[in-house]
Amino acid sequence: TKEVINVAKICENRKEIKPVLHISVNRSAEIQEQRLKLPILGEEQIIMETINDNPVTILCGETGSGKTTQVPQFLYEAGYALDGSIIGVTEPRRVAAISMSKRVAEEMNLSTREISYQIRYEGNVTPDTRIKFMTDGVLLKEVQKDFLLSKYKVIVIDEAHERSVYTDILIGLLSRIVPLRKKKGNPLKLVIMSATLRVEDFTDNIRLFKVKPPVIKVDSRQFPVTIHFNKNTPQEDYLGEAYKKVCKIHQQLPDGGILVFVTGQQEVHTLCAKLKHTFPFHKAAKHVKLTKCIKHGDEPKTNDLPDIKLEDYSVLPIDEQSELKVADNESESLFVSHDTGEEPSADEEAEDLVFEAPPDGSRLCVIATNVAETSLTMPNIKYVVDTGKVKTRFYDKVTAVSAFKVAWTSKASANQRAGRAGRTGPGHCYRLYSSAVFNDSFEKFSPPEITRRPVDDLVLQMKRLLVSLGALEKPPAPKSFKETKGEMCAKITPLGHVMACFPVSPRYGKMLSLGHQHQLLPYVIAMVAALSVQEIFVDNLQESTTEAEKEEQKQRRLKASHVRKTWAGFGNSLLLGDLMVMLKAVGAWEFDGGRSHFCDEHGLRYKAMVEIRKLRAQLTNTVNSVIPEAEIVMDPQMKPPTDLQARLMRQIILAGLGDHVARMLPELPKDADNAQKLKNAYQSLQLEEPVFVHPGSVLYKSKAQYVVYQCVEETSKLYMKGVTAVEAEWLPLFVMNHCQFSKPLDDPPPKFDQSSGNVVCHMTSTFGSHFWSLPAVEL
Ligand code: ADP
Ligand code: MG
Repeated sequence: TKEVINVAKICENRKEIKPVLHISVNRSAEIQEQRLKLPILGEEQIIMETINDNPVTILCGETGSGKTTQVPQFLYEAGYALDGSIIGVTEPRRVAAISMSKRVAEEMNLSTREISYQIRYEGNVTPDTRIKFMTDGVLLKEVQKDFLLSKYKVIVIDEAHERSVYTDILIGLLSRIVPLRKKKGNPLKLVIMSATLRVEDFTDNIRLFKVKPPVIKVDSRQFPVTIHFNKNTPQEDYLGEAYKKVCKIHQQLPDGGILVFVTGQQEVHTLCAKLKHTFPFHKAAKHVKLTKCIKHGDEPKTNDLPDIKLEDYSVLPIDEQSELKVADNESESLFVSHDTGEEPSADEEAEDLVFEAPPDGSRLCVIATNVAETSLTMPNIKYVVDTGKVKTRFYDKVTAVSAFKVAWTSKASANQRAGRAGRTGPGHCYRLYSSAVFNDSFEKFSPPEITRRPVDDLVLQMKRLLVSLGALEKPPAPKSFKETKGEMCAKITPLGHVMACFPVSPRYGKMLSLGHQHQLLPYVIAMVAALSVQEIFVDNLQESTTEAEKEEQKQRRLKASHVRKTWAGFGNSLLLGDLMVMLKAVGAWEFDGGRSHFCDEHGLRYKAMVEIRKLRAQLTNTVNSVIPEAEIVMDPQMKPPTDLQARLMRQIILAGLGDHVARMLPELPKDADNAQKLKNAYQSLQLEEPVFVHPGSVLYKSKAQYVVYQCVEETSKLYMKGVTAVEAEWLPLFVMNHCQFSKPLDDPPPKFDQSSGNVVCHMTSTFGSHFWSLPAVEL
């Protein structure tokens, strides 16, 4: 049943940590009974021997076999958390980090002081913490502080098959850290855990591990799952199909939970609402009604349908922050990474409900995104309804535009989904697509995230890491790293060092560094915080049922856009555009006391504002520690910048977003073919196609000649969002790397500046690959 590749390796290196102690854990009888049912329990001996005897171990097993909850406990019992050491476990999703830490604490009868978690802003880690669950982004940030990760004796990388960017990078780094720790006489164990797919990605990659690590496969009971394909060609309306299928299963098939896979939060809500409407569950007192029924002895009529219990389980996959986002907004720092901008509590609640058995006479129906594929196991699912769709981010490396698209998932993940039906007994999987489509249109695996997202933010962080690594051994300088982008080969400058210390994307780091030089830091901090958080304005009309509601929303939106115009002000403030509006929004909301009511009134997203507040505080601290002489005191309410300050801010934004410059296209004669289509169009530095200022921007129809934008969003057209106006003569000064300069002009003649020791001359230049000619500047 168990398969251990490379067993010979096990006996080597016996000298390494060999725990003699067995730390006892006081579990309840009930928990112990549940544990004994898990397939992984029977493998504890072989798993621990392999880990003890090898620096790196790969452990794979079906979802639900007990990897995440049990392996940390095995390690604890084997003494890996003694003498103040910590067992570190990383998860690509924060909801998994939180819920698994809770579950393990409960199983071990220990408190959250000992079994803790850490995600972006929150955690309950204490000096007593022995097992720490964290997102992979958090551990990556820790590597930057202590490259050797000295406080850990073992690191468990969970869900490695998901190939999330940070997990991939962590495994790469750990493959270097593990030998270094051995050299220092303080060995670190690495355990890579994955579902039973893609193991070769890690074992057969010779650049990762010099010695092929042993692989332990945990078998688990998997009952047969009958796959039913749709005969017809797939429907556009897969949500409607899913709805019909759930109704049919519920009305015609025997007991057993239903799990439906859709692509995003909105779909989860829509489908849930529709089903709740069709099968209303006993609302106020679901249990009471059932007991009453028993007391009075009235048998339910045979043709009565049982109630359906619906759980709205909309934990978002990591990727799905919000739709249609472009590189910059997304390419936040390692630290700011994994967040959906939502507080986790709602998801946690939903999750507890999923583990609860539904009341008698009802059926559990879980509507989920692909988070339910492998990271969370729900008991008693018998029917899986698979739309076959997944929402992923597609990133165009050339144009730097990224967009979320719904597409077919991979064969591997469709099979994972089907597997969810066979955990507790034989099950059925209804695929809402034909077998021909499955065979012809589904990829074998989903491509790793690292190939689907911009990497500029990672590059600087990685370079900084390599520099610290260089202090320890010769940097490995992987080839692909050099090839990815020319910029990477540029030397890391002192400014770059400062930039990399900030927990935000390097372009924002640059803005922070410049803000210091102009004493504008409080504004820049607020701005960067706002830019790092997704979707602070609620622009989209939510689905509303009645006409009256729609009308009310429309009115509210109009009012909000009017307020935004007044916030933008005039002069340099107005030219600062949407970023000025962001600043004002932050200040005004704080001034109002940070209430959610204010957000409703002004079209702001409350959770985004709370996130901004946290990030501002965090950035203020970081700035103070990186640049101690800055001595920034955070004033939440912030006076609006003066006209001069607003002008300097525009320059700082240009310096940070320099590759997001666009220039207005000359107006075409009225009768020209494209005149209407190209009205108010801009040519951007990066895209061939024309782009337009988003109608929600305060600079819409402003006819500003040069603008910088935060991101481009593709809907009916390519729209620039987060727009600021800049001046042509600033380009050669702030975005020098995109300019081609002329020979120095003779009129006026070059002169020697004694104070700086430079020759000052006038030069003209052209900008970008479109060769826009720029006015002469003194350089
Ligand atoms: P794996 O990591 O191999 O997918 P897990 O360790 O996550 O497996 O899960 C093992 C078992 O523990 C599963 O049967 C799952 O249903 C159960 N489980 C996990 N979390 C909870 C919880 N909070 N409450 C009850 N059961 C849980
Ligand atoms: Mg798991």
